[in-house]
Amino acid sequence: MPDSEDLLRRISRFIEHQQEIYAPIGTVEALNEPAAESPPEPAPDIKSSEPVIDPKNQTTMEDPLAACSTLEELRALCEQSDVLKTDLIDTRLVFGKGNPQADLMLIGEAPGAKEDALGEPFVGASGNLLTKIFEAIKIDRSDIYIANILKHRPPENRNPKPEERLRSLPFLERQIDIIKPRLILCLGLISAQTLLNTNSALKNLRGSFHTYRDNYELMVTYHPAALLRNKHLKRDTWEDIQKLRARYDELQCSPKFNSYK
Ligand code: URA
Repeated sequence: MPDSEDLLRRISRFIEHQQEIYAPIGTVEALNEPAAESPPEPAPDIKSSEPVIDPKNQTTMEDPLAACSTLEELRALCEQSDVLKTDLIDTRLVFGKGNPQADLMLIGEAPGAKEDALGEPFVGASGNLLTKIFEAIKIDRSDIYIANILKHRPPENRNPKPEERLRSLPFLERQIDIIKPRLILCLGLISAQTLLNTNSALKNLRGSFHTYRDNYELMVTYHPAALLRNKHLKRDTWEDIQKLRARYDELQCSPKFNSYK
């Protein structure tokens, strides 16, 4: 790995570059936060998860995070990366947890108070429900890998801001590429919209598999916190989870020896 100061500088430049790519058509800004003063631009005609990046504006820049080839290296870098923080001070890094060789990776939104206190994702009420959902399809939590779009807690558990998501995304993408799961499950709208770079509604994104960055099969379902608030979402979630389990079997996914437990 190159020395970390140089790497952190290059990561900041890379993030600025990514923001330039996304900004021209307001991709991420458009996701949840309509502009306050000016009348809204007509929404781009997006079908399902079709990306809204303008390919003409894309130039390539080498991803400096490719220098991290292990989760340990990436975690060490995340510990030093202030770009991952929200405006809440003194938060703890919630890097992600699970089997580094998992065939299935779950991606939530952002850590809450309990996750921040313990440094682990999904350890509160939503996490307990998530564990039960996966027990019901006979997949143990220790056989999967769980991370979030943000690696630090936002104040008062507000939705992650578009710029926070953009700053965190290269780190998450690297984490995914190190783990190389066969399947990814996005938990909730923020996770799905960020990874699929779309502003589609969750009801349009759930229920089928999407191709993510050409390499991964990705499914979307409701966030467990939404299920705790609205029991009517349970039925759709259960359908999604069963489809996921069927695909897991079709791909011959299996628990792998986890030297990390
Ligand atoms: N909600 C999330 O999206 N992630 C967590 O880690 C906990 C709750």
